[in-house]
Amino acid sequence: MCLLEKNKKKIVGIDLGTTNSAIATLEGGIPTIISNHEGGRTTPSIVAFSATGETLIGQIAKRQSIINPENTFYSIKRLIGKKYEEIKFELNRVAYKIKEDINKTIKVYSPNLKKEFSPEEISSLILKKLINDANRYFNETITQAVITVPAYFNESERLATKDSGLIAGLDVLRILNEPTAAALAYGLGKKKNEIILIFDLGGGTFDVSILEIGEDIFEVLATSGDTHLGGDNFDQAIVNYIISNFNEKENIDLRNDKQALQRIIEAAEKAKIELSTLEITQINLPFICINNNNPKHINIDISRAKFESLISNIIKKCTAPVNLALEDAKLSFSSIDKVILVGGSTRVPAVRNLLIELLKKMPNESINPDEVVALGAAVQAGIIAGEITDLILLDVTPLSLGVEIEGGLMSTIIKRNASIPTKHTEIFSTSSDNQQNVEIHILQGENNLAKNNKSLGIFNLEKLPLGPKGTIKINVSFEINADGLLLVTASEVTSGITKKITIK
Ligand code: AMP
Repeated sequence: MCLLEKNKKKIVGIDLGTTNSAIATLEGGIPTIISNHEGGRTTPSIVAFSATGETLIGQIAKRQSIINPENTFYSIKRLIGKKYEEIKFELNRVAYKIKEDINKTIKVYSPNLKKEFSPEEISSLILKKLINDANRYFNETITQAVITVPAYFNESERLATKDSGLIAGLDVLRILNEPTAAALAYGLGKKKNEIILIFDLGGGTFDVSILEIGEDIFEVLATSGDTHLGGDNFDQAIVNYIISNFNEKENIDLRNDKQALQRIIEAAEKAKIELSTLEITQINLPFICINNNNPKHINIDISRAKFESLISNIIKKCTAPVNLALEDAKLSFSSIDKVILVGGSTRVPAVRNLLIELLKKMPNESINPDEVVALGAAVQAGIIAGEITDLILLDVTPLSLGVEIEGGLMSTIIKRNASIPTKHTEIFSTSSDNQQNVEIHILQGENNLAKNNKSLGIFNLEKLPLGPKGTIKINVSFEINADGLLLVTASEVTSGITKKITIK
């Protein structure tokens, strides 16, 4: 039996969501949500700056979003760790301004503060709010956390999330995949061996993971997903419908009216949520704009059937990642014992129907899809803190990693769904006589062509010994740690010239 360690630091688990975030801890071995100061169990992932320069976070920021749309930042997780080029198509979806920064990165702009922020800075404010709520709960200062990310996040998205934690003053002890966290929360204390499929459809991302869980080993067999698929897309489909309907009737494009757009986005989300339980709902937005001194109103009915027709193409996009994960896990639909739902968007009846159609199984309803990821992060925090000692977690890397080779091709060094931590080495050679340096271009993705994959970094190995082409050998090793973060080492075999980089 162990005695308590005096002044042992608490580690919290944080689900930093696209729409909502949550924070949890282990209380006597049981994962428990920490309510926020306002009494909510989840906190809207929204940050706003008021006209008086005040920073508003969570519910209070959400409540004022209609009257302050250009200074209210939501769905920031869709931007984190991305280049401007990758999110161009998101620009019209939000009422705030997104700019391209140096290095082709992203900044959002607050007119009230006349200041730009990186997505990491905005996320760090959400994290700070969660931590302040936890500080109040424990009556002590929390400095260590496990933060979850979509399993399908690439290296730069993971690192940017970690950076948000650093900016918030946190020591991020582990970046944990959301579906893996959900499995930890679901499976903790279960005595049975089961194959489970975690179907995680949140506000902005979709993840599917297949795990084998037993009493003391949780092994991720495969993971797949789409970092641009979620409830925001459903909202957008309703927004487009409302706007084109209004445009047809009034010949006015409300897309250019920021305040009207923000009201429509809010009404669309509300209608979508109502349609999870109702067959029909009404969208009522009086005085949406004024044209030639005439006030204009929106008043339309949307039935569930209409909504389902608007989102049918979006829903279909969930099928391919499920099939791919099953294929990678070398399993068939019938091998899945349980389907666990995670994320608010799994409450949409059409999503459930798709799953029943695909897997011929009713999803498990025993856990709250909004809380399960934070609870699982708390379990991982408990493993790190040594409070849970008999659980081993084997996770995987979601996307293949490799280097660019001659002909603009990608040579894979670590294949997707390899168990992590892992290390693989490949030997490459020079392509011309007396070549003095080689370029190591690190890539992530599944395409044969280098240019179609994500570029994670480039470095040169210089002053190579001279020799005919093909005779100078270079070992390139890729090492992924438990956070899914990558260290690349290249070394020339005879001279020992070596260079390493951690992807940052
Ligand atoms: P999450 O990222 O897990 O917090 O999921 C948030 C997404 O779930 C948002 O797009 C919400 O609009 C959506 N959502 C929450 N509750 C419901 C509901 N009852 N029906 C449909 N969508 C919902």
